[in-house]
Amino acid sequence: MNVRPPLGLKSPLRIPHKLLMGPGPSNSSPRILNALSQPILGHMHSELFDIMDEIKKGIQYVFQTNNQLTLAISASGHAGMEAVLCNLLEPHDVVLILINGIWGERAANLAERYGAIVRKLVKTALGSNFSIIEIENAVKIHQPKLLFVVQGESSTGIYQPIIGIGEITRRYNCLLVVDTVASLGAVPFLMDKWKVDAAYSGSQKIIGAPPGLAPISFNERALKTIANRKTPIPVYFWDITLLGQQWNCFERSAPRLYHHTTSATLLYGLREGLAVIADEGLEQVIKRHQHCAAQLYEGIEALGMQLYVDEEHKRLPSVTTIKVPDGVDWRKVTEYAMKRYKLEISGGLGPTAGKVFRVGIMGYNATQENIVFVLDVLKEALKHSVTSSK
Ligand code: PMP
Repeated sequence: MNVRPPLGLKSPLRIPHKLLMGPGPSNSSPRILNALSQPILGHMHSELFDIMDEIKKGIQYVFQTNNQLTLAISASGHAGMEAVLCNLLEPHDVVLILINGIWGERAANLAERYGAIVRKLVKTALGSNFSIIEIENAVKIHQPKLLFVVQGESSTGIYQPIIGIGEITRRYNCLLVVDTVASLGAVPFLMDKWKVDAAYSGSQKIIGAPPGLAPISFNERALKTIANRKTPIPVYFWDITLLGQQWNCFERSAPRLYHHTTSATLLYGLREGLAVIADEGLEQVIKRHQHCAAQLYEGIEALGMQLYVDEEHKRLPSVTTIKVPDGVDWRKVTEYAMKRYKLEISGGLGPTAGKVFRVGIMGYNATQENIVFVLDVLKEALKHSVTSSK
């Protein structure tokens, strides 16, 4: 063999400990890290099926839903987005996407790949969310089959309330799909009460498990749409009718289907992440995130910095966007925090690139001590990051 073993692989694996206060992933708690070192089980072993059942109940709890078709897809948040669009849309279907950051744009990109006709409602005044009237008008004009909404836009730090949208989509015979990747656990999400037809999230943010699994849920209305498809679900890996059989979502007596080899390790992590939320109580988890966010807002203003989203009720508690002050090199700030303190604070993304810092408050990291630390490091980093030209 001509290709030699790489030298790098001969040295031991070394992972630095970093405090991840960006928009995700967050640090996993010791309980979750411990779960990840448990022995591997086969993907068709009864013990793993029991864990999958517990995960399913845990996802139903955090989504506040009784939907039977509730499971975790084996990939990151993007897979949730792929799966809802791929299962619910057919070529030439009209989809309306609310866009107030990069994630709505991403959904539009994906929907086009599945052949849908994409209509966009774009928030030009960045830093704000959509009113119910704006949403209703757009649905009335475009008559879409599906309305796609991001509850927590991690690129802009905007919170989009979902309450009231479901009544509109029902009136216009349209499906409501919500991305909760960056928001689930930091704000309420009442899937059934708010008449959301399909929703997904990510394992690595507020749930605090490793990246690699996307909780997802479809209601009966969404299932009917899938059953009435004229064309096959175009991607095998996202086919929710097959995944639902692997996760035992349909008929109790039917045998589990082998669809793909699930990662037992990632499932242990997600199971524990959900268990931690169940132990603390979802309401309390949400309150903890909101208290930490309020503490951060106060500290940021005390430092003389400005928040990107003016009105507090439009801010996403789990991702705070802070304007980069004039004369400050944002890259130097984030690099200083990382090099000196192994602290991750992020820059902007998409429409906010170069304009904001993004501080994540997620799961195990959502503590008062961490907020104090972030504020102290920011203050110090800002002093070291004034550009020479100003
Ligand atoms: N939607 C939102 C709102 C997100 O914040 C993210 C991740 N930052 C995604 C989707 C994509 O998730 P992932 O990176 O886990 O694929």
